[in-house]
Amino acid sequence: VASGEVLGVTPPVSGTGLVSVDEARRRVLSACGRLPPVPVPLAQAFGLVLAEPVRAGQAVPPFSNSAMDGYAVRSGDVAGAPVGLRPVGTLMAGDDPGQIFVGQGEAVRIMTGAAMPPGADAVCMVERTRSGDGWVVIEEAVPAGTNVRPAGDDIAIGDVVFGEGERLSAAHVGVLASLGVESVVVRPRPRVGVLSTGDELVSVPGPLPAGKIRDSNRPCLLAQLHGDGFDAVDLGTAPDEPGALAAAVRRALGVCDAVLTSGGVSVGDRDAVRTVLEGLGGARTCWLRVAVKPGKPFAFSTLPPANVPVFGLPGNPVSAIVSYELFARPALRLMSGYRSLFRPCLAAVCEADLPRRPDGRLHLARVVLSTDRRGALWARPSGRQGSHQLSSLAGANALALLPDGEGALAGETVEVWLLGTEGLEARSSGSERSGSERH
Ligand code: AMP
Ligand code: MG
Repeated sequence: VASGEVLGVTPPVSGTGLVSVDEARRRVLSACGRLPPVPVPLAQAFGLVLAEPVRAGQAVPPFSNSAMDGYAVRSGDVAGAPVGLRPVGTLMAGDDPGQIFVGQGEAVRIMTGAAMPPGADAVCMVERTRSGDGWVVIEEAVPAGTNVRPAGDDIAIGDVVFGEGERLSAAHVGVLASLGVESVVVRPRPRVGVLSTGDELVSVPGPLPAGKIRDSNRPCLLAQLHGDGFDAVDLGTAPDEPGALAAAVRRALGVCDAVLTSGGVSVGDRDAVRTVLEGLGGARTCWLRVAVKPGKPFAFSTLPPANVPVFGLPGNPVSAIVSYELFARPALRLMSGYRSLFRPCLAAVCEADLPRRPDGRLHLARVVLSTDRRGALWARPSGRQGSHQLSSLAGANALALLPDGEGALAGETVEVWLLGTEGLEARSSGSERSGSERH
């Protein structure tokens, strides 16, 4: 099937028009762009992505200082240790060494972080000294530079400390603070609206009316967005009625950088999302049948006037999240300025069979990934694999890739996409289980 047939406004009619995950992703990512940069105070920068490099305007450490509590000495004086020296002062962290100079035969009591006094070129740790009234014995020789942290030892003036596209971790924030940086230029967190669709959905407490179900996709996607570092906007639910749905989407376009809908993209009688996106986005809208399970039906458009990407995720709860993982998350990371868009792909050994049947699609099995004592990765199914069975996604920390065919047998190696690190450290078999439970 030529990609034009699948990607155009007109959906493929027969059952064979599947498009690969890569092709669908390429289509989505090529339509999304990075958000314009904004300056933010350092205190609000954690988790955001730099939009320009940061250069050091000062050195870290800013001055040569002691790495130990001890005595600052002239290395030449103590080459023949043990040797007695005359203490001529004390330097605490924060003191200005000012007039203190260490001459021949002299030492200065110094604390960790205090500036090295001129004349001294090494520090002997206090544990290797003995002191009395007006004298100190240095018991071991300290070559020049011993226990001294030179100015610029971590960062020199003018160094490019961080590049564009780097996500600011706690350590990044610490480094920037040490440089006296007060604000940084980053990409803002995309504001992502979440709209559930379906006449069957109930989102208020109380007994369920006949035929209704609770809206789980919206809370789930809002939490997922939050966990991925995006700003989540609750857009509520819309009925399976194109007029009301179109109004809800139009309202969202004014306040969101991107919109996720769930439901209404299949071939059911009332699948209104597709209709609405095609109405609002015209030729920019594509409705895809992706060669993946779960997550086959998927609609995408960039809606005017601001070309806001709208991701029409499937309604089945696991399909919605998988489709988010495959298409929306990488696109939102691109908008956020990240260099890497995708989950890490690792190799893991199957603890149990992961069977499937050939159907022309890539299957993504929910698995629990764990490590053994030698650091090898193991994958076991986290539960039942129906696309409505969300409980097995709750325990999973990875998706195993099962290419078209019969699946994988226990002992075989599969590729996995790592979704998180929870549960990774404890392989739950044999004696290792009781060991880890005691902690
Ligand atoms: P649809 O794609 O609209 O045909 O929905 C597919 C399945 O997902 C149906 O069983 C829906 O009831 C279910 N579903 C759709 N939206 C939600 C939601 N927000 N929360 C839970 N289940 C949903
Ligand atoms: Mg529906």
